Amino acid sequence: MATVFRMSDAEAETFFRGLRWESTNGAPVCSHCGSLDAYEARRPNGTLRFRCKAKECRKDFTVTSGTLFSYHQAPLRAYLAAIAVAMNEVKGKSALALSRDLNMSYKAVWILLHKVREAMAAEMKGREVGGAGSVVETDGAYFGGYVKPANLKEDRRDRRLRENQSGKRKVVVIVRERGGETLPGVFRTEAQAMGFIKARVRKGTVMQADEASSWDALHERFEMHRINHKEAYSLDGACTNWAESFFSRMRRGEIGHSHHVAGPYLLRYAQEAAWREDNRRVDNGSQVRRVGALALASKPSVDFCGYYQRHQR
Ligand SMILES: [Zn+2]
Repeated sequence: MATVFRMSDAEAETFFRGLRWESTNGAPVCSHCGSLDAYEARRPNGTLRFRCKAKECRKDFTVTSGTLFSYHQAPLRAYLAAIAVAMNEVKGKSALALSRDLNMSYKAVWILLHKVREAMAAEMKGREVGGAGSVVETDGAYFGGYVKPANLKEDRRDRRLRENQSGKRKVVVIVRERGGETLPGVFRTEAQAMGFIKARVRKGTVMQADEASSWDALHERFEMHRINHKEAYSLDGACTNWAESFFSRMRRGEIGHSHHVAGPYLLRYAQEAAWREDNRRVDNGSQVRRVGALALASKPSVDFCGYYQRHQR
């Protein structure tokens, strides 16, 4: 963690080149035509850039061209710092502190952190959990959409109506294999998560869930163990500790970012919490390498590609 913050620009360049072009030991590979024949042609401000020597191409590219970190307006070092902060958010720095450290705008740092979350999410695409002989816990928790109760009766009714229509309140549902991987989804209600659970949890899995009637529909497909949280114990040893551990991490994150967790990026925050849960025993250095490699292996951001251009109008 500390070493990432102390890295010079040159060290950050070497680090990213090693991750992007592992097979050539960090030597540039043209992102347009795949040619190995390229030379360093830095921008006037010193930013690392390469120029392809292949006759038909001769285009410029960078170490992040065509990846999740492309079109970066930030130094590579800032990407490293953002990854390190996302790894360690609970005891680490906020986006605000990071923006002061890197002398970047809060918005720019906020986008960096979101791209890091997108990289983590890339690892969960198409993920399935469970299978014969394994146990998967499922649970849900609601985020956002809180509306202060009104004093007047007519206001209350009105507010409920608006609340119902706004759809801001969403439930995060996770499936988490004991000793295995975690996968979150975001829905209006727990009942709407049935298709997701059936698609992502393999047949033959023993599932653990609480007494909420939302999960009743899972009995037709899985062997189910249910726990009654009001009584806080279960006769057959059913429990949802793994799911609860995920949600307590998510709630801690919610305190850190306050109002930002709910809303359109709720799934990204849930994916970040899931990634951190699954990688909690991996040392920081390896975590940073893994997220960096994921980002450089992913296509440009779906969430934020052209974000600046769209918002400058
Ligand atoms: Zn080329």
